[in-house]
Amino acid sequence: MIEKARSLLKDVFGYDHFRPLQAEVIANLLRRNDTLVIMPTGGGKSLCYQIPALIFEGLTVVVSPLISLMKDQVGQLTELGIPAVVLNSSLSAQAYRHNVQQVRENRVRLLYMAPETLLRPGTLNMLAATPPACLSIDEAHCISQWGHDFRPEYRRLTEVRERFPQAACLALTATATPRVRQDIAECLRFSPDNAFISSFDRKNLLIRMVPKRQPFQQTIEFLKKFPDQSGIIYCLTRRQVDELHAALKELGFSVRPYHAGLNEAERSENQERFIRDDIQIIVATVAFGMGIDKPNIRFVLHYDLPKNIEGYYQEIGRAGRDGLPAECLLLFRYGDTRKIRYFIDQKEEPERQVAYRHLNALVDLAETGQCRRIPLLAYFGETFGAEKCDMCDNCLGEGAKTTDLTIPVQKFLSCVRRTGEIFGAAYVTDVLRGSRSQKITGFGHQNLSTYGIGKDLSKAQWQQVARLCLRQKLMVRDPQYGSLKLTPKAWAVFRGKEKVSGRLRDDEVRVRAEPPAHDS
Ligand code: ADP
Ligand code: ZN
Repeated sequence: MIEKARSLLKDVFGYDHFRPLQAEVIANLLRRNDTLVIMPTGGGKSLCYQIPALIFEGLTVVVSPLISLMKDQVGQLTELGIPAVVLNSSLSAQAYRHNVQQVRENRVRLLYMAPETLLRPGTLNMLAATPPACLSIDEAHCISQWGHDFRPEYRRLTEVRERFPQAACLALTATATPRVRQDIAECLRFSPDNAFISSFDRKNLLIRMVPKRQPFQQTIEFLKKFPDQSGIIYCLTRRQVDELHAALKELGFSVRPYHAGLNEAERSENQERFIRDDIQIIVATVAFGMGIDKPNIRFVLHYDLPKNIEGYYQEIGRAGRDGLPAECLLLFRYGDTRKIRYFIDQKEEPERQVAYRHLNALVDLAETGQCRRIPLLAYFGETFGAEKCDMCDNCLGEGAKTTDLTIPVQKFLSCVRRTGEIFGAAYVTDVLRGSRSQKITGFGHQNLSTYGIGKDLSKAQWQQVARLCLRQKLMVRDPQYGSLKLTPKAWAVFRGKEKVSGRLRDDEVRVRAEPPAHDS
């Protein structure tokens, strides 16, 4: 049957070879095994169910959370002559009925739906009359509360599985940490033998994370390296997108904005023009990029901090899909986490804590002195096979130098201990820097031996020392109150038995006199 798949690959889709893992996944699914697929964005997940859909006798149901993505796929399949339809709330009643009729008459190979639509009694009854051969769950990380995009309806897909036990199930995602992976497999009751996980390493991406000092200036410098080439600049807010877009346009860059505040027509025009190479640069919020498939994006610049590593990796993953070198630059300033923390604080537990863990992992990645691919791939459960990749700023020796930080670390830990291990990093920093705040005098902490011994470092630098201590597990932070407590490991550092090295940047310096006005 895999021979059949191979000829469909060539005859219908026009490709000569399978990408890594595609053939294995397809073969496994054709044997009617439930299959979990983890592949980075652009890895070619769609073919893993589109080809079997042409071989199976029965219908393939594809569940996806995004209406626009489903429409795109159905459009592409229709062009290839493959009968595929979508059912969703954006269809007119007439079009909806027409599509249902197509399904009932067995004229359709692939049926795309959002989980809400699939879970409707009417839809389930329709499917009972034409039982699906395959249930394909796209963006399967939405099943897991440990993921960054939990959707409760996704968990109810187990009901659909129970209703149609004969359908082989395929779960696909680009963004699963080991924990999320396990959650998906448990929820859908998959056996671990049926997981196919491809490497997340995108070797052609040069990754840089540099202190955000004068972001606009830094952006211009960066863009100068890519005359006439395509790239995306990601900002956190719509306002920032509009400001940066206006400022770049004024300087004559070929640029368009993209965010959810623009009307549909404007958004699709800007996206189309970018894809056709009519314009060079898109300045966008994370609303941009889902499902776009442009091979020659040469750079991705993060003007603001992404929300987490998954998001970051998905965003930079849009660069260099043609396999040629591409550059990714992230402008990092710890202060930028404030807006993200604000969003996170609106969430309920346990999602709030999960989001904090994800944010902290991103900060660690930005501050590490190691090869960036080591923590980055570790986040996705993968071990990077070398000490160095030579395709990141740290490997290229560009970042701040790693120095011996034993003394500041000792000062910090000692101050944590002397203030009773009940305060957070901000307070400990104030004591070290000799602040005269009422809180300090209230506790009488101006009399401590550690009071005022840390004036040599800025607040921001002490925050970096604190994060270093946490990373090195010299202390732990209470997840609820933020108070810091020493671990047994701290004692080795106190006694001078262990040294701590790391990097200190002075990136929190604000430069105010720069356009566009950007205040975080
Ligand atoms: P994903 O869903 O993993 O992000 P897609 O399924 O959208 O990736 O595939 C990304 C691009 O790669 C698409 O343009 C697709 O047509 C192309 N592609 C997929 N498989 C192959 C293949 N075997 N050979 C060549 N191109 C492929
Ligand atoms: Zn590296």
